[in-house]
Amino acid sequence: MKAAYVYGPETMDIRDISMPIAGRGEALIEIIYAGVCGSDITMYRGQHPTAKLPVVLGHEIFGIVREISGGINGIRVGDRVAAEPLLSCGVCEACMQGFGNVCGKLRIIGLHENGAYAQYVKAGVDKLVKINTDIPDKLAALAEPFGVAYHVCMRGNLRGGEDALIIGAGPIGNITAVMARAFGANVVVSEPNQIRRATAEKLGFCTFDPVCGDEGTLLSETSGGAGFDVVFEASGSKAGILSTTRLCKIHGVIVPLALASAPVDFVLGQVSFKEQTVVGTRVYPFLHYKRGVEMLERLYTDGVPLDPLVSDILPLHEAQRAVDMMINGENACKILLDARA
Ligand SMILES: [Zn+2]
Ligand SMILES: [Zn+2]
Repeated sequence: MKAAYVYGPETMDIRDISMPIAGRGEALIEIIYAGVCGSDITMYRGQHPTAKLPVVLGHEIFGIVREISGGINGIRVGDRVAAEPLLSCGVCEACMQGFGNVCGKLRIIGLHENGAYAQYVKAGVDKLVKINTDIPDKLAALAEPFGVAYHVCMRGNLRGGEDALIIGAGPIGNITAVMARAFGANVVVSEPNQIRRATAEKLGFCTFDPVCGDEGTLLSETSGGAGFDVVFEASGSKAGILSTTRLCKIHGVIVPLALASAPVDFVLGQVSFKEQTVVGTRVYPFLHYKRGVEMLERLYTDGVPLDPLVSDILPLHEAQRAVDMMINGENACKILLDARA
């Protein structure tokens, strides 16, 4: 089968590799679309803290079940499915407590094992979520980031009625904005890039330009000057990270969701000064992945605008161009690779 194979830092090509063989309890999935994610770029550059090259990228898995062994959740050959890509060890302290998403030895399909930038991938049958509605393929392919967004909203303790700020309108920022609104929050999206801000506006959000805009006006117009109840930091930028304590209110919650690793002079005392809570978040427990997919389908059925979330669809053999677009920030939102083109 064809796969976009990264065999060294910043060296990727399309190769013919052998098909994955689904073992007991696993399914073989024919990929329809693979989502391109920021963490794929970290991998492509050979900078991921735990995963090593070579590998076929792609942890945002959506396709059709072609073979299945040991079905336990009613999924059959021919079903459209999203596959949760986490491979937890099952025996470490975190796993024993039921938190496999923060497993000390967490492995992920598409980072540690060959992933979805390919015609086929294998995944555990217990990790599959069947797509039940007539949601179009290109939107169903957003299952994985919707799982991320569901988990971050749960971590941010959204219950409805909060003022929520999303810093950064990249794909995950905009999807988090859609999810936070579905949780009942009043959402504002902050983004300096005009193209990405326009995507947020097409999705129906009020936006803020953190370079030209005035923070004081933003706060007085949205929260009576008090600050946001919840601030989701999805930019990973220094300016974004440093603005979180200013824009979050007293006793508010800050959720950093960009896995930025560059050190920033963040003053923890400012968190104490306002008695804020900073909450970490990493991928998702399977339940939240599943709930995220269900929410995606429900929003589609309800007619919520979702189309702007997918800005580019490229054939699999143009995976290099997709990666370059991510690096150069040319994409207005999510890029999908079409494995059947
Ligand atoms: Zn991702
Ligand atoms: Zn573990």
